Amino acid sequence: MPTKMQAAVVEQFGKPLVLREWDVPTLRAGQILVKTEACGVCHTDLHAANGDWPLKPTLPFIPGHEAIGRVVAVGAGVTIVKEGDRVGVPWLYSACGHCEHCLAAWETVCAEAQFGGYTKNGGFAEYILADPDYVAHIPEGLSATEAAPIICAGITTYKGIKETRARPGEWIAISGAGGLGHLAIQYAKAMGLQVCAIDIDDGKLAHAKRLGADLVVNAKTEDAAAAVKKGTGGGAHGVLITAPSLTAFNQGVGMTRKRGTCVLVGLPPGEFPLPLFDVVANCITVRGSFVGTRQDMAECLAFAADGKVKADIELQPLASINDVFARLAHGDVPSRVVLDFAATVPKAAAAQRELETA
Ligand code: NAD
Ligand code: ZN
Ligand code: ZN
Repeated sequence: MPTKMQAAVVEQFGKPLVLREWDVPTLRAGQILVKTEACGVCHTDLHAANGDWPLKPTLPFIPGHEAIGRVVAVGAGVTIVKEGDRVGVPWLYSACGHCEHCLAAWETVCAEAQFGGYTKNGGFAEYILADPDYVAHIPEGLSATEAAPIICAGITTYKGIKETRARPGEWIAISGAGGLGHLAIQYAKAMGLQVCAIDIDDGKLAHAKRLGADLVVNAKTEDAAAAVKKGTGGGAHGVLITAPSLTAFNQGVGMTRKRGTCVLVGLPPGEFPLPLFDVVANCITVRGSFVGTRQDMAECLAFAADGKVKADIELQPLASINDVFARLAHGDVPSRVVLDFAATVPKAAAAQRELETA
């Protein structure tokens, strides 16, 4: 096992990540060590690197919570996974397992929860430590690069759609057709819903149509709430806001049907005003939703393994992370970038390091 690895590190908020050597983490009892094969780049990683949220990670840290890889070592007492298994190291890195929320299978809101690539170092590195009780089990037949976006963008939207309580045949409006949204459209279609996709980019909306959206609305050129209300005959039964934009949140409540549910998953910093009269008089539910549980993980991976949803991925090496972040900040990533670790280290350098550590 090498002692050093390459990692992309946030050393200062709002500054480019630093590509540098980092110690391969030391395995302790109850933990596993995973050799990263692929890691998706989520807009959350950008929020993390910018220090956008009230609870900030401790600097320096390694982002990345869509990491897929093989287990290369298991600590004492680990039985649930074994060496060679392919696992995903997600945002929900671990939880206490015994609080009221964990007992109710709501481990996502456990007060003791740790977050991959945030409170624990994540997958923008060649090796990653994980808690075997909380890793995703990647089905056979799903490659590492295909599985990566499922373990955050996939689970978050799959769970968020369920949280809208929209039923087959009803309308769901999905605001933001990027990394999360392009998977949300596919999950919603697979779950029998009629889908309206909303974005500010015509290219993303054209892609949303190709992915099965029944209706698309450009929130830049149209009054999004009015267009959704018209196109769905009174508003969407469920609304899922993935856009990292406060404007989208204002519009989302306005496109919700009477007695419908607007689920918030995007996390732009800030607050948005809730039109109280409309929410009260129309009996609208506004609900937050945060990733998903381990059971949601198994379910959303099964959709992918069955070919019902497929992430659109652009492969990039780890070294391109600052360029990817710049594109993500400007909405220039078509769907999801996945860092491909087979492409990370030039072959000669990798061979040299193997020799040094053999
Ligand atoms: P992304 O950048 O890939 O996609 C965002 C999309 O929103 C883009 O297509 C962009 O064009 C579109 N958009 C921007 N402004 C818009 C507007 N006003 N109206 C409609 N569309 C607009 O980002 P992503 O990786 O999909 O992440 C989206 C957000 O979800 C981020 O804030 C991220 O932190 C958050 N997130 C939350 C959870 C959770 O558990 N709640 C999990 C993962 C990500
Ligand atoms: Zn994410
Ligand atoms: Zn707990």
